[in-house]
Amino acid sequence: PLVLGIESSCDETGFGIVRGTELLANAVASSMEEHVRFGGVIPEIAARAHLEEFVPTLQQALVTAGVTLADLDAIAVTSGPGLAGALMVGVAGAKALSLATGKPLYGINHLVAHVGVGVLDEVLGGEASVVGNNRATLPASLGALLVSGGHTEILRVNRLTSDVELLGSTIDDAAGEAYDKVARLLGAGYPGGPVIDRLAQTGDPTAFRFPRGLSAPKFVGTAEEPGKHRHDWSFSGLKTAVARCVEQFEAAGVPDEEIPTADIAASFQEAVADVITSKAVRACQEHGLDHLLLGGGVAANSRLRGLLAERCAAAGIELTVPPVRLCTDNGAMVAALGAQLMADGVEPSGLDFAADPGQPVERVSLQG
Ligand code: ATP
Ligand code: MG
Ligand code: FE
Repeated sequence: PLVLGIESSCDETGFGIVRGTELLANAVASSMEEHVRFGGVIPEIAARAHLEEFVPTLQQALVTAGVTLADLDAIAVTSGPGLAGALMVGVAGAKALSLATGKPLYGINHLVAHVGVGVLDEVLGGEASVVGNNRATLPASLGALLVSGGHTEILRVNRLTSDVELLGSTIDDAAGEAYDKVARLLGAGYPGGPVIDRLAQTGDPTAFRFPRGLSAPKFVGTAEEPGKHRHDWSFSGLKTAVARCVEQFEAAGVPDEEIPTADIAASFQEAVADVITSKAVRACQEHGLDHLLLGGGVAANSRLRGLLAERCAAAGIELTVPPVRLCTDNGAMVAALGAQLMADGVEPSGLDFAADPGQPVERVSLQG
């Protein structure tokens, strides 16, 4: 089926068009620049930017794909989780398009869409940024590690379109948020991910030993599932440890330009990559999952990718890492999941649903 996907959960306005598993267009407009001076995403600014970018970005996607709205078989839109005002723009726009064209509409889960992008031919086909696999289809059950500015989650996907479960998540900051906060502490700029990653290249990752929060999985077993654990993360202690480290240099009278920021950045990055990858691999092992998919903007991180590839290989877990432009928020992933829902015969959501900022992963698509 020919499906249009709409994404507006955070600061990217994304329109993607797929035909089944073939990607035809992926137009993205980001309001990231407008948030730089605030050091973080401002929800009202993001929502207004979605409003301004909605029509031009849609038009760009249609032109690139060489199709019209009349050609579509369905429309899919991110209904949650995400920023309420930002989601509302995408959902209202999608409903208007559905009403005007008579095309069925799916309200879908943003996190599951990050996994859905994995079905696309160009992800499975083994592009340069895909780590070591060249498969025809995504396996039916797999683990998914999602790391971004707003999320740090490990999912167990039993069936993409209907059966997804949360195995663990951060209990405080998301990984990308920790990067942003540490970058601010080091006076390195925003967004924190790319600047810390760059700074870390010249630093020694063993210079400081920063804490790895919640390093043991939490036992949550029951009579039915006696071996069950939660695989949660915590990054607030790590952020505080970095702040203390900087303060100690300052208290000792070390001038700002002599504080070893590259070593601090590299050591911080090592702690983040270590704790994210070790927990993800452990969760996969506990659940017998031999395939892991990585998603979210922090997937761009060099050390995270490298260490995850290493640890997955050692554990016999096959790893899929989509190209970065398909890891950050985009409409192609929404369209990809929409096409799978259609192919699996899942009922569309109708027009009677609202954006759900806290939509749980179990709700892959909304049912009216
Ligand atoms: P959401 O959480 O809703 O998916 P988001 O806008 O926060 O939305 P993305 O757009 O997927 O997430 O990714 C942006 C995040 O990725 C930012 O926090 C940014 O710092 C981080 N990031 C980008 N490049 C890198 C990198 N090289 N290393 C670490 N983090 C990075
Ligand atoms: Mg973003
Ligand atoms: Fe996302």
